[in-house]
Amino acid sequence: MKEKNKYYKGNQKKGLTPITSHWMHEIFNDQEVLRGVMEKYGSPINVHHLPTFNDNCARYKDLFKSYDLKYQIFYARKANKSKGLVKQAFRSGIGVDTASFKELEQSLALGGNGKNLVLTSAIKTEEQIALAINNEVPIILDNEDECVLTEQVAKKMGLRAKVGFRISGFEVKGEKLYSRFGFDIDQVTNFIASYVGDTKTFENLDVTGLHFHLDGYSTYQRSIALLTCIKIGNDLKRKGFPVTFIDMGGGILMNYLEDERQWIDFNDSLQKAVTTGNNTITFNDNGLGYRLEDGKLRGKLNTYPYFNKVNKNSFLKEVLDYVDADSGLSLAALLRKNHFEIRIEPGRSLLDQVGVTIAKVVYRKQDAKKQWLVGLEMNMSQMMSSSADFLLDPYIIHTSETSDKENVDVFFTGAYCLERDVLLKRKISLSRLPAIGDYVAFVNTAGYMMHFFETEAHLFDLSTNLMHTGTDEKLSFFQFIDDNKIVLE
Ligand SMILES: *Cc1c(COP(=O)(O)O)cnc(C)c1O
Repeated sequence: MKEKNKYYKGNQKKGLTPITSHWMHEIFNDQEVLRGVMEKYGSPINVHHLPTFNDNCARYKDLFKSYDLKYQIFYARKANKSKGLVKQAFRSGIGVDTASFKELEQSLALGGNGKNLVLTSAIKTEEQIALAINNEVPIILDNEDECVLTEQVAKKMGLRAKVGFRISGFEVKGEKLYSRFGFDIDQVTNFIASYVGDTKTFENLDVTGLHFHLDGYSTYQRSIALLTCIKIGNDLKRKGFPVTFIDMGGGILMNYLEDERQWIDFNDSLQKAVTTGNNTITFNDNGLGYRLEDGKLRGKLNTYPYFNKVNKNSFLKEVLDYVDADSGLSLAALLRKNHFEIRIEPGRSLLDQVGVTIAKVVYRKQDAKKQWLVGLEMNMSQMMSSSADFLLDPYIIHTSETSDKENVDVFFTGAYCLERDVLLKRKISLSRLPAIGDYVAFVNTAGYMMHFFETEAHLFDLSTNLMHTGTDEKLSFFQFIDDNKIVLE
């Protein structure tokens, strides 16, 4: 079998074709460099393209500039643990949202400071709070006990703490949006007015802003929440609290797929497969959230919505362009008029097109159902979605011309001793069976897929994270920097 390209996408027909970038194809196409990198760092590797991350930062900045808004962008680093991206965030002129002692400590060592960092941890220890106060990093407070602890720590240090209040329980279309995080909307203004400030219980706390982060991806809910925060912010200002920013958190949708038709077709065929009991799409009849109950289709696709027409800048535009019926002004206009700085904390969407995960083929076998299983030198925790599956077709990179078998359907299996260590639940159709030593590349994995669930069961090494500096020169081995070698200042 002769192929011009020695790499191609799985599922040439009936696929879920991912959006890819030039830099990814450059790597897939350059076997010499790829093999060099894989041999040096082992399988799997995560490659991160820094110029793309920089472009993503620039695009969000341009959007806020186009609205003439005061703004700050904080990259939510929980979505990817690499130091190189934190460094790049500062170089690209944005800040970093930290959510643990180590994330904060490391971000400070990588060039962060009180102006470009924020602490939003769900659990805040005394030592975290002290580190934030010492560096004048704003602390986003979640509850009264945190106020007590922050006050104690600040007092002991003889310093003041910059704080923002996280708010939840927004009322949208007559219903309260539940969240386990934050102060309830109905109580927060009174709470701050009664207990925070000179001669009050929390006299060492300086209220600098308001914060929310909503579950889900509704722009409408975000607009209502933002509008509500503008009102609360104004109330607090009238009561003498210098509220300067409103932080609307992350959850900005991104789009992974090229073609909406493919997304709709996939959903239809999966529903049909579950309904008819004839599932030839997924491993072991996994319904990915759908199930049959008394002959009826129940449940819903339990994955990230991988196709999104409205995403990133257009998503934010929908939030900011929302018109408040009372004032007749858009939220952007209200923010400007009331001199609020708008802040966002995108994780996933800033990592769009930034990463790929590449692993080596170790074995091929046919199971008792005559399904082909292709064993990869990696495990399920090294590319794991919080949802039922990562619905993007992978790329196969052949390292030799020989082909044992043509036109095969495969599942990729991993190294954990669990039946469910199957890297993609969808069956992938290939024009030829991969050979031992070939590579499989999963694209657009930088947001959450690489690290959020990575574990060290069996004492397997964690994957190597490489920063790809991607200059205009021809691709070379030297453009890949091991994230572990990035020094803290
Ligand atoms: C997770 C999280 C983010 C980032 O969310 P994305 O969906 O990755 O954009 C931002 N802020 C807070 C408080 C979070 O918990």
